[in-house]
Amino acid sequence: MNKYRDFDNYLKEYPSRDGYFGKYGGNYLDDPELIKAFNEYAEAYHTIAQSAQFINELRRIRRDFQGRPTPVYHCQNLSNALGRYQIYLKREDLNHTGAHKLNHCLGEGLLAKFMGKKKLIAETGAGQHGVALATAAAYFGMECDIYMGEVDIAKQAPNVTRMKMLGARVIPVSFGLKTLKEAVDAAFMAYAKEYKDAIYCIGTAAGPHPFPLMVRDFQFVIGEEAREQFKSQTGHLPDQVVACVGGGSNAIGMFTPFLADPVELVGVEPLGRGPALGDHAASITYGKEGVMHGFNSIMLADEKGDPAPVYSNASGLDYPAAGPEHALLHDLGRIRYETIDDEEAIEALFLLCRHEGIIPAIESSHALAYAIKVARTGTTGSVLVNLSGRGDKDLDYVVEHYGYGPEFLEKMAKRRGSETK
Ligand SMILES: *Cc1c(COP(=O)(O)O)cnc(C)c1O
Repeated sequence: MNKYRDFDNYLKEYPSRDGYFGKYGGNYLDDPELIKAFNEYAEAYHTIAQSAQFINELRRIRRDFQGRPTPVYHCQNLSNALGRYQIYLKREDLNHTGAHKLNHCLGEGLLAKFMGKKKLIAETGAGQHGVALATAAAYFGMECDIYMGEVDIAKQAPNVTRMKMLGARVIPVSFGLKTLKEAVDAAFMAYAKEYKDAIYCIGTAAGPHPFPLMVRDFQFVIGEEAREQFKSQTGHLPDQVVACVGGGSNAIGMFTPFLADPVELVGVEPLGRGPALGDHAASITYGKEGVMHGFNSIMLADEKGDPAPVYSNASGLDYPAAGPEHALLHDLGRIRYETIDDEEAIEALFLLCRHEGIIPAIESSHALAYAIKVARTGTTGSVLVNLSGRGDKDLDYVVEHYGYGPEFLEKMAKRRGSETK
């Protein structure tokens, strides 16, 4: 049996009409107002977003405002420095605002406009999603309320400034631990009250139906472009396609157009400081099935079933679950999940700076680090890495913790030397 052929009809089969990817996904919210709101949302998505008018308008926005298509780039210097394996990047860092998140924020904003809504509501942790959504709100002339834990507001001053300059209201959340989890609760509560005038916009391919479907579809453009670009540049398909997995939006957008191809798909999860619970955010690798934030998936939970504490030096990757479609594709064996730790990611970041003149986000550096690991084994072949974002937001943190590169690269060479002995 050809394992790829089984995926010819995959997109027609998954998710089911009520948002299930196999046993994962669904809508597990218990507030009747929220259920009403999400049903209206799903209905609008199934009708409006499939219309030619919506699709054409989104295409125009992507070209004129976002700067799509983003290029595929062959890293010849880096590949030559490592061996014979050829590394290519899909340059999502060249999107307006510097990351892939705008792909689904503009889609959600356009849907809100077609639905006659006046406001976009979301939570944000590190602020990246908040900035992308505030950008979309400004573009569509809508109000924007971003719920953010007080602790995160203090930590992420530059992103708070960006959101405010773009015209969003940043609403501090001051209960519980005052971080992302409480911000999610506060945003859901606001949405339940305001859904007649507003829509809620999630930051990744997770959450209750229709978000995992909708975000996947809006991010699909990454892989769709990359597949054609890679084929026209090289005459073939890559051997591997690699992307980092936080909640899973950039990865699912990159992977789904390749599902029926004879291509290995690798999702890279953050191993942080190591495999102990609380030191990483590798949800699929170390997690198990459970329900959180209104959906069923594979997640990191404590004994009570609540979201476990997670850590990574990439703030965009420290989410305690992966979206339900990742859980299904993991169980089906179609996507392989690997881990990369903090230091390996930073080494990849420095190598891309020095060999190619590109400063990647720490999140994206996790995916690149996996490709570098493969290249160092001396094999031949090609890998296409989704470079989900640029690293400007990470500069101060990187310099403070890891310096400018040379000494850290030496330290990593020694670490590799001792690991292979
Ligand atoms: C938010 C973010 C991610 C992680 O989110 P996914 O939904 O897993 O894609 C990855 N890279 C960058 C640059 C981000 O900002």
